[in-house]
Amino acid sequence: KKLAIAIDGPAGAGKSSVSKLLAKALGYTYLDTGAMYRAVTYEVMKKGLTDKGEIAHMAEGLNMEVAPGEESMHVLIDGEDITACLRTPEVSARVSEIAAIGGVRTAMVTLQRKIACKGGIILDGRDIGTVVLPDADLKIFLTASVKKRAERRFEEFRSKYPDIRLDEVEKEIETRDWKDSHREVSPLRPAEDAVLVDNSDITLEETAQLLMGMAEK
Ligand code: C5P
Repeated sequence: KKLAIAIDGPAGAGKSSVSKLLAKALGYTYLDTGAMYRAVTYEVMKKGLTDKGEIAHMAEGLNMEVAPGEESMHVLIDGEDITACLRTPEVSARVSEIAAIGGVRTAMVTLQRKIACKGGIILDGRDIGTVVLPDADLKIFLTASVKKRAERRFEEFRSKYPDIRLDEVEKEIETRDWKDSHREVSPLRPAEDAVLVDNSDITLEETAQLLMGMAEK
């Protein structure tokens, strides 16, 4: 049977790296839902929108396509590939605010369910096990200590942003996690039937191995 796997957790827990490894091993499709909220945020900034109603309206009408890629999932808006614009400090600083708008979430969840309905899929995000796929075959809540998560992000961004500082990265993810877990709609929290995995002391490859074992059971 082709499974639907939900992987939720805070920023920098290794969700996307682990999901990619797992998807490759199982021959599944990987959907990075964070990239979708980032794409909406990028469009909000590009269009200079400030009103929540207008932002929700824009998100509902957005011509968004996602495509699997080698390195990361690609996001296209009106056919234009904007993947390279999504993981910038500017978008990261505003994405939690945009993702807290109910209308934006409804639009993205609708799209995510449409993509997931075939099975053989891994979704990573904040509300996959609780809202998007409450009937997922396997739900993982992936965490690690804030220190470990900050270190991983730091290593990931160092080559691209040489001036980046570890304490700033730590502050950024802590702020984002606080906002994501305290918003009114679909806050970040483990589903009741999620398996909690803390990977502070194991590598991302070992984490993928562990989840692989759970998926095969
Ligand atoms: O996973 P990533 O760090 O790229 O997610 C960026 C942001 O998008 C999160 O901090 C959160 O605000 C939002 N998000 C969400 N629900 C999801 C995935 C991401 O609210 N399922």
